[in-house]
Amino acid sequence: MVRESRREKIDRFGLGDWWPRPEQAAAGALDHLPADQWPMLAGKWLAAGFDSPLLCQLAELQVPGRDTGPSARSRAGGWMAPRGVVVSGKAGAGIPARFAAMRQALDLMPEVLRSIGFDPAPADEAFVARCQSALDVVRHDLDITGYGQYRMRAHFGGWPATVYATLPDGSYWGGGQGMSREEEGSGLLCSAADSVSATLKEIPEIEWPVCAVHGGHPGSIWDGEEPVGLIKKVAWWRCTNTGHLLAPVGQLTADLAKTL
Ligand SMILES: [Zn+2]
Repeated sequence: MVRESRREKIDRFGLGDWWPRPEQAAAGALDHLPADQWPMLAGKWLAAGFDSPLLCQLAELQVPGRDTGPSARSRAGGWMAPRGVVVSGKAGAGIPARFAAMRQALDLMPEVLRSIGFDPAPADEAFVARCQSALDVVRHDLDITGYGQYRMRAHFGGWPATVYATLPDGSYWGGGQGMSREEEGSGLLCSAADSVSATLKEIPEIEWPVCAVHGGHPGSIWDGEEPVGLIKKVAWWRCTNTGHLLAPVGQLTADLAKTL
C-alpha cells in the first residue's frame, strides 16, 4: 500500500522527508500539502530559524484529527469541498472544529509568509495571468461563433489554488476541475477551454461549442460527450454529439461550429 509506506517515512513532525521551504510555499508548493499539516510545517520553519508572532500562532494551531466521526471518511469531494461538509449533529462533532481550524490555517498562511519575508501574491498573480492568456485564446472561438458577449475572466479561488473561467457578471462554475498551477501550454489551454464550456453550460445553460454537422446531444445538453480533449499534446474541441474532433482550441471556424 502506497499510503502505508509513505506513513513510515513521516517523522515526528508528521511530514515526510521533503517539506516546502517558505520561498517554495510562496511560489505555490502548498497546493499539494493539506492545510491540516500547515501547523506542523510552521513548526519546521520555526526550527529552521524563521520567526514571527504569526508563524508561532500558526505552529500552535490545533487541528483536530481526521477520524473524529463516522462521516469523516465517507464525505465525498475532498477535505476542502466548499459545500459538501455534511455533518450530522451527533456523530461529527469534531468535524466543524477540524474545518474551522483548517480555515484558520488557510487564512493565516499568506500573512505568515509575508511576516517572514515571502509574499505569495506575485506567484498567484502570475498564475492568474497565465490562465487569462489561455482564456484569451478561447475568446477567439467565442467571437467566431457569435458568443463574444461571454468574454471570460480568470477567477482565482482558494486552496488548492484553482482558476475558473468567469462570466462578465462574475458568475462561474466551480464544480469542474478548473485550471491548476502546474498546468501550462496545451494542458492549460485544454483546462481553460473546458472551464469556459462548463461555465456556459452550468450558468446560462448554453451548450458551446456545438458541431455544425451533428448539433449537440439529441436528448439534453447535459448528456453529450466531453467538449474538449487533449490529443497528442493539442487541445481539441470535440463534437458533443458523436465525439469526433472539431478543431484545435483557438482555431474554431464558423463552418465547423454552430453560430449564434
Ligand atoms: Zn459532429
